[in-house]
Amino acid sequence: MLQQTQVATVIPYFNQFLTRFPDVLSLANAEQDEVLHFWTGLGYYARARNLHKAAQQIRDKFNGHFPTQYPQVLDLPGIGPSTAGAILSLSLGQHHAILDGNVKRVLARHGIIEGWPGKKPVEQALWSLSHQYTPSIGVQKYNQAMMDIGATICTRSKPNCPACPVAIDCKAQLSGRQNEFPGKKPKKTIPEKAAWLLVMVDHDKVLLHKRPPAGIWGGLWCFPEFKTQKALDEYLIQEGISLTTKTELPGFRHTFSHFHLDIQPIFASISMQKDHRVMEQSTSLWYNLPNPQKVGLAQATERVLASLRSILNKE
Ligand code: SF4
Repeated sequence: MLQQTQVATVIPYFNQFLTRFPDVLSLANAEQDEVLHFWTGLGYYARARNLHKAAQQIRDKFNGHFPTQYPQVLDLPGIGPSTAGAILSLSLGQHHAILDGNVKRVLARHGIIEGWPGKKPVEQALWSLSHQYTPSIGVQKYNQAMMDIGATICTRSKPNCPACPVAIDCKAQLSGRQNEFPGKKPKKTIPEKAAWLLVMVDHDKVLLHKRPPAGIWGGLWCFPEFKTQKALDEYLIQEGISLTTKTELPGFRHTFSHFHLDIQPIFASISMQKDHRVMEQSTSLWYNLPNPQKVGLAQATERVLASLRSILNKE
């Protein structure tokens, strides 16, 4: 949960997640929809899907016990070399180096390693430093300390060098170049796309579709999406759906790592009895607004639901 997300945001999600899934088996045996439901609002849903798959792998391959060998841990979905090293060094004291975002920043400054750590040669240089410095005795304290220095002292914009235990031989500090490291990610313009979402409402229920497992919002429930407003209108005509109201909800931009999506939700109310067949697809769900089902919702879906609720409450 803490990958790409701050502790303060994570705490309530973590507590609710652990209450519902207190052990590996309860997570492994749950439906993916329910796991995604408890992740709704945290974003980066691949983490939830991977966590769920990892729990299933631990159940099926390791009899429900977390593996203790580095290659086995590395083989679990969603776990890379740094996370595998952190898990085994912190929990069992095994000798493994780590290199999360915080440690990268400390090492890049301490050794003035040029270049953006997203580039393979730069990352390799940082890994080799991490291996070089990681002690075989006291590895737990060392790894935890490195992560803590990065998170609390050697912060991105205001490194607190006077308080830093490695300041004495930190090359960036000695040369006053702290803000030059780590190197910045090269800027690239990301494309813009548009989507029209059909927010089809019948009294207190709204129609959601389940996204395919791969691609954006994979496995999450979203509103039916169209590339143009014309396509949305044609869909309504083709399906013979008669509307009692059709109006725009506030539009907004949702930014993914590789493109911006300008979203225009279209609120449309229907008479359920006439359009009963839209309920019959297996990937469709009439989401109950006052008593929501436990399913995973994309952040954009949640945002549209919030504006929908405020409109319906005013009526
Ligand atoms: S001395 Fe300053 S720049 Fe160097 S690692 Fe410590 S906090 Fe970061």
